Parts: sequence; structure tokens; C-alpha cells
Amino acid sequence: MRYLILSDIHGNWDALSAVQRHLRQKECDAVLVLGDLVGYGADPDRVVSAVRRLPEPVYTVRGNHDRVVTDLSLAAGFNEAAQRAARWTAEHLEESNLRYLGRLPRGPIQVAPDIAICHGSPVDEDDYLLSAGGAAEAFAAHQAPVTFFGHTHIPSAFTLAANGGGVDGERMDEGSMELDPARRYLLNPGSVGQPRDRDPRASCMTYDEKTREACWYRVEYPVRSAQKRIVAAGLPSILAERLALGL
Ligand code: ZN
Repeated sequence: MRYLILSDIHGNWDALSAVQRHLRQKECDAVLVLGDLVGYGADPDRVVSAVRRLPEPVYTVRGNHDRVVTDLSLAAGFNEAAQRAARWTAEHLEESNLRYLGRLPRGPIQVAPDIAICHGSPVDEDDYLLSAGGAAEAFAAHQAPVTFFGHTHIPSAFTLAANGGGVDGERMDEGSMELDPARRYLLNPGSVGQPRDRDPRASCMTYDEKTREACWYRVEYPVRSAQKRIVAAGLPSILAERLALGL
């Protein structure tokens, strides 16, 4: 089985459609969506509809933005721009798409004997896995050999060495990594719709179960177009500006 892994699309239709065009040739058998389909971007309906139309099998977990949009009483924990975006998104989503988001499961979920997915961390869907210490806790709490996670918007890999060894963490550029069956992994594809590693290109990954090859991709998309939509929608301008900076 070859998986396409998408995370943190954040209502960015320009980025998602570019990724779909780019990855079509790569022939994936299943898609894993790690949450935050909406929030920040100006095309939540098109993004949710596109995810719902992906050919099965598709496994999706909810992100914190998906959860807040379906229950605005939870928005208090968000900063001002994110709160405004959440309210705007809730108002502009079709009823059936809003219901779809409300039904998304909380991670982690097991998608294959060796593979799990979650939004933030397998310990807590809202945790940011940014350090080897956090990753060590996650490895201790959940046993899946390979877990894909999102939420930080930073393509990265944490590796637990065999035989009680330590945890290594690294940021990932475009390129591939062959997974060692003796080790365990927490892998982040980066964000499709709002990268935060100072590279504005959309980020995603594939994983081939047979060859154990994980591959990270960056895909150019029309950032100006996504920015114009955000401004035209009356969303906070910072949400447009940050897309060009990859922040
Ligand atoms: Zn996110």
C-alpha cells in the first residue's frame, strides 16, 4: 500500500489543488488526512468537499480548527485572527460539510497494523510535537511503529532507536528516508495550506509500506491567488501575508 499523507490544509484551495495535481502521477492507493482541513484560508467549503470526494480508502482525523469551527464556544483558546477565521469559516461552510467536520474522529486512529495517524500527538490531539522529549513521551504512550502527525506545520521526523535507545528529531527537506523496521517513527508531512518553516510551498508526503520509503515533497502553488481570496473574504490580512513568508 502506498499512502499520500496530507495535513493542515486550512481552507487553502489553491495549495490543495496544486498538491493533488502534482501527486496524481505518484499513484497512491490510500490517503491519510491529519486534520485542520479548515481555519485561516478562504475556501473551506471547496477543501472539505474535495477531501470528501477523495477516492477511498481515506482515513481522516479532526484537528483543533475542525473542532472549534463545529463548536465556536471552544474558540476562546485561539488568538484574535484565528477566532475571526473560525467564526467566518463556520458561517461559510455548507451544512453537510460542517456536519462532516463534526463527525471526524479524534486521533490517534490505527489505519494499518503498523500505522497510526493523529493531529497533534498520540498522547493529546492538541499537543505540539516539537522536541525529542515530547516525542519520547509519545513513543512511550503509544506503540504504533509508524505514526503520522501534523499540527506544527513543520515537516519533521522523530526516530526511536532500537533496544531502548534515545530519540532523534530532525526537520525534513524534500527527499526520502527509508524506515528501519527495528526503529519506531513519528513523521510529520508539514502543512499543505500554511507552511511554517519559511518555505511557502505546500508540503506533503508519501509512504510506501512495501519499500518502507517515506518521501517529503514541496509543491509550488499560486500563493497570490490564495492571498487575494483571504483579503476579498474580509479575513485578517495577516493570514494572507504569512502565506508568502511560510510562517
Ligand atoms: Zn494547523
